[in-house]
Amino acid sequence: MTPDQIRDYLKYYRDLGIETIYRAHAPSQTAPRPVVMAQKSPVSIPPVPIASLPDLVPAGDTLAKIRTDIGDCKRCRLSEGRNKIVFGAGNETSPLVFVGEGPGADEDQQGLPFVGRAGQLLTQMIENTAAKEGIKIKRDDVYICNVVKCRPPENRTPQPDEMEICGQFLYRQLMTIKPKAICVLGATAMKALLNTKEGITKSRGQWQKWRDIPVMVTYHPSYLLRQYNVEAKREAWEDLKALLHFVYD
Ligand code: URA
Repeated sequence: MTPDQIRDYLKYYRDLGIETIYRAHAPSQTAPRPVVMAQKSPVSIPPVPIASLPDLVPAGDTLAKIRTDIGDCKRCRLSEGRNKIVFGAGNETSPLVFVGEGPGADEDQQGLPFVGRAGQLLTQMIENTAAKEGIKIKRDDVYICNVVKCRPPENRTPQPDEMEICGQFLYRQLMTIKPKAICVLGATAMKALLNTKEGITKSRGQWQKWRDIPVMVTYHPSYLLRQYNVEAKREAWEDLKALLHFVYD
């Protein structure tokens, strides 16, 4: 790699919020491994049809009412180990909503979504992509929530019945906010909102729909924190860029 390429490479990761890069092996003198930074064609954005959203929620629903209806929820087994219900946070009239899987240990302690390591990466992804693209938003300008509102034990994947029970509240949140776009983070959120059998690798970067609202699928930040997901980080960066331009241009 040339010094310019190395500089670009490091800047790219710094923009993603990655401050430390590990090298698995000493570089070979004879066969340096090329860094593949292939450019994908831009994600195509479907036209947004003018259509009224179907009635799924009580008339006059509000986020406050949804939170009241959740109450001290005991509807599923996730309530047994939880500390705090993590309802959602951010701008309640945001044109953009991020949906994750479910709270982890930090979120369970604080009652707020995406405040642990994955959350810090999500903040950096949103804010650094926006800054780089000249879009004036911070994390507080978007709304962030999860499919399930209570931490699954050992951070296991939520089970279908847990997703179904909690999903009604997620749907109401989305219908109340009626954002211009939704970003689903990872396979669990994708399965909760989209009727697809595709895996996350195939679906990411593609626009889909949830009840007439455009949905961008991308990787979960926890997945991106795994050290060797170099290509996935680049792809997530592309997805965020397309998403932010669609919502804020
Ligand atoms: N992972 C999630 O899916 N949601 C959170 O709130 C935190 C980590």
